[in-house]
Amino acid sequence: MAQLSWLATGLAQAGSRLERTHWHTRLQSLVAQLLTDGDDEALNSVLNRLSESEPVAHDALMDTIESVVESTVVTIKDDTRDVLLIACPLLAWSRYAIPTPVLSAKDQTALADALKATVLTRHAEVALLGMLVGPDQIPREFTQLAQLTRNLAESFVTSNATPLHAQATEETSRFLSDTRYLIAAVSVPRGEAIFRWQEPRAASTSLQLNERGEIAQVWSAQTLKILEPLLAGCRVTVLLPEAFHAACAAADRASRPHSIEACVRFLTEAIDLPPEKQRAVIGPFYAQRLEEYRIGLGPHNDDALYHGVVWPLLGIEDEQGDMPAEIEQVLRSLGVTDIVSHDHRFPMEYCDDCGSPMYANADGELAHLEMPESVAAQPSILH
Ligand SMILES: [Zn+2]
Repeated sequence: MAQLSWLATGLAQAGSRLERTHWHTRLQSLVAQLLTDGDDEALNSVLNRLSESEPVAHDALMDTIESVVESTVVTIKDDTRDVLLIACPLLAWSRYAIPTPVLSAKDQTALADALKATVLTRHAEVALLGMLVGPDQIPREFTQLAQLTRNLAESFVTSNATPLHAQATEETSRFLSDTRYLIAAVSVPRGEAIFRWQEPRAASTSLQLNERGEIAQVWSAQTLKILEPLLAGCRVTVLLPEAFHAACAAADRASRPHSIEACVRFLTEAIDLPPEKQRAVIGPFYAQRLEEYRIGLGPHNDDALYHGVVWPLLGIEDEQGDMPAEIEQVLRSLGVTDIVSHDHRFPMEYCDDCGSPMYANADGELAHLEMPESVAAQPSILH
């Protein structure tokens, strides 16, 4: 797809807003055409090629694909409305399996009302997906996700509930901590603001919600009441709803410290090993380049590693940033003070038998996670 590559590179190199707009319009319509044709292969192969040679063009193309995938337009009678796919991430952890509940009509109404009352502008209509999905249950291909956006948008026209997509029935992996997503399409009259933070604060009232931090708090308080019975046995943190890809990126970032917290609390509750008696070992793991940090946790007076967390690098992060310091800060805030941080580069190794990642122990050797015998039979252990 020489054309696709050429447009993306042109957009990346544009020297003015007018030129950028010109490239962007043409790139957008080509991407929309490829999505309509179901041609994920063309999009993926150009993305792969550009990621090697033209990283800026790669990012420009990825941004364009994501924005086309998550937005569409519907016409209801003579009224044209913009539609945006949004996601509301929920970080959950539990000693038991984290469910992926189907939402009753009553819960869907309550959640849609909460979105309208706290996050969305007064112009907004909401069409919810009737299930809280895990990461494995979100469509993987661009065209499948674009189809989900169109299916949800269709329900603004027909008023029928959107059928669940194929991946929604797949099993999710069982982790101690994981993300669940409430997914919805939002429609507003063409060009109107979608989110309350897009609106200026009126001088006459102090009751208006238009600041992200405030909105996040009110949204969290309202939805936890609805969600807690559906996610029984889980501790849940509710993140701010956002455009689909922005929400997923925010969830990926927030889930890193959240997984460490789940791990530290799990050891405290499951085997009565409080944070001050835990030792954390941080190791950088490399393939061609730094891929992730793996953090093993165990007792401070023993080399054993009971549990662990993978902290992947995201987006443009690389070894330049001081990630180990950030990880240490998370551990310290949880009360873990015995922290070993290795500079040594570890290879991205996995256990031959069970496929789980190998961690660095305090001596700098690769080690397998192993819970003490007494609790090893519990189901929720990552292995
Ligand atoms: Zn194993």
